[in-house]
Amino acid sequence: MGIFEDVVVNAKTAVNVVGKKAGQFVDISKLRISAADLNNEISKRFETLGRTIYEAKKTDNDSSELVNECITAIDDLYEQLDAVNEQIAAMREKQVCKGCGEENPQDAIYCNKCGRKLSEN
Ligand SMILES: [Zn+2]
Repeated sequence: MGIFEDVVVNAKTAVNVVGKKAGQFVDISKLRISAADLNNEISKRFETLGRTIYEAKKTDNDSSELVNECITAIDDLYEQLDAVNEQIAAMREKQVCKGCGEENPQDAIYCNKCGRKLSEN
């Protein structure tokens, strides 16, 4: 059963690493990379889930606990992906000041940093 234990440990490690990363991202290009990474990770988890079920059936083992772990890992990744996509959407709605490059809320009239009128951008 060593292979199953490795799979579960790896899933938990990946979730932790991605979770930490997501908190640090500030710019949109990094967020997009993060979203792509999460999508890749989700695909890998689905593959692992399929393999877990396959191997459990082949060896006639009860896989329900491992399957639940895989599903939990996938759900965690989906939650992180949602959070990243929300951040991307929020950033897209920001207007960048042409005077200083500061990101301002979409409804701001003047730049928060330099005071330039944003509608003149
Ligand atoms: Zn500005």
